[in-house]
Amino acid sequence: MRFLVIGGAGYIGSHFVWEALRQGHSCVVYDNLSRGHRASVPREVKLIQADLLDKETLRAALREDHFDGIFHFAAFALVGESVTEPDLYYENNGEGVRCLLNAMRAEKSTAGLVFSSTCAIFGTPEKVPMLEHDPKVPISPYGRSKLVAEWLIEDACRAYGLKAMALRYFNACGADPSGEIGEDHQPETHLIPNVILSAVAGKELSIFGNDFPTRDGTCVRDYIHVSDLADAHIKAAQHLHTLKPGTFDVVNLGTGKGYSNLEIVQAAERVLGRKIPYRFAERRPGDPAELYADNTKARQVLGYVSRYSDLDTIIRTALVWHEKHPKGFS
Ligand code: UDP
Repeated sequence: MRFLVIGGAGYIGSHFVWEALRQGHSCVVYDNLSRGHRASVPREVKLIQADLLDKETLRAALREDHFDGIFHFAAFALVGESVTEPDLYYENNGEGVRCLLNAMRAEKSTAGLVFSSTCAIFGTPEKVPMLEHDPKVPISPYGRSKLVAEWLIEDACRAYGLKAMALRYFNACGADPSGEIGEDHQPETHLIPNVILSAVAGKELSIFGNDFPTRDGTCVRDYIHVSDLADAHIKAAQHLHTLKPGTFDVVNLGTGKGYSNLEIVQAAERVLGRKIPYRFAERRPGDPAELYADNTKARQVLGYVSRYSDLDTIIRTALVWHEKHPKGFS
């Protein structure tokens, strides 16, 4: 299949491209490189460096090629930043999606749209594991902007005969098994890369909060390997290909198992054979105590299987990436 990968130079988007090429598909990347890395896009893949808000370039990209699948990975995804810069989030995550839907409509695209959504649309869940139709009460501008985007897509599918699927990720982590691409955010706010940095550089890890109502007082999250996420996107595109125009569906994408922050540290100490210096710090605003998916639908509809999403493989692949590229892509 031929894919247009919007945001294909970012962390999850680039892993998708590498996985899709391995599986014999072809990709064009569309990315403004505001947060992505040129070096994460394989040399043989065409890169259109442009913004989603640039309607003319976007429409030309759709007009000049035939795509079987279009993937939207181009969101800003930092909860804290979204609280201080909400306009940035509604513009990029909301308006960007509206532009994409308009361009697809105008160019009469028949491609299935696979949209990167997030468990942040649920806010603080009433229960775990979380099901697709659980109440959605997002507590951050980030979560709200992604829920707005889901609504835009759902309404556009109904009205204009597009077809789409929103995949609500839990915690994407790990690195491509080749070790050639991985997580490189500035600043790094995520737990797994920060655990690796602490193990490698001896930098003390702050664990945010130890008084949550969980088994050891630290937050519980559902860690899914980024290459498993990528594979689920390919399966989603293949599934959409068989569906009628006007279809919109949603899938929660996690492993179905939650680990606490302390359990992550302990697993990393075991896998890496090193002590990880840490201290408990204040809770981070907006962190729900426990988030993990009910992935029954992902398994039934997408045939989701875990190939890399055990903690050992997640930590090992993240370490290999870090050791091969200690300065990231720079
Ligand atoms: N976390 C932490 N120290 C860090 C980074 C993250 O204790 O340096 C915690 C964070 O508060 C949350 C969990 O690790 O409880 C996962 O955070 P992450 O930012 O990786 O993903 P999120 O769940 O926020 O999307």
